[in-house]
Amino acid sequence: MVGDLVVLQGGPGGGQQMETSGPTLVWRACLYERSGEHQWVKGGELRVYAHVVDCCEGYGRGDTEQCE
Ligand SMILES: [Zn+2]
Repeated sequence: MVGDLVVLQGGPGGGQQMETSGPTLVWRACLYERSGEHQWVKGGELRVYAHVVDCCEGYGRGDTEQCE
C-alpha cells in the first residue's frame, strides 16, 4: 500500500518528509498527526502532519529523546 508524501511540522522532525497513509505517523520518538493544512514544496502540495504536544509522555520516553 503506497502512502502519500507528507511534511512534518514542529518538534524535532519538523520539515521532514514522510510517506504515510494513516491519520498519525511516528518519526523517531515523536508522534505526528494529520492537520488540515497543506504546504507547498517543490513538486507539489503536501499535507501537513503536526507534532503532537504530549507525544513524548505518551511514549514514555520523556526527555531521554530529542523531543520538545
Ligand atoms: Zn515529540
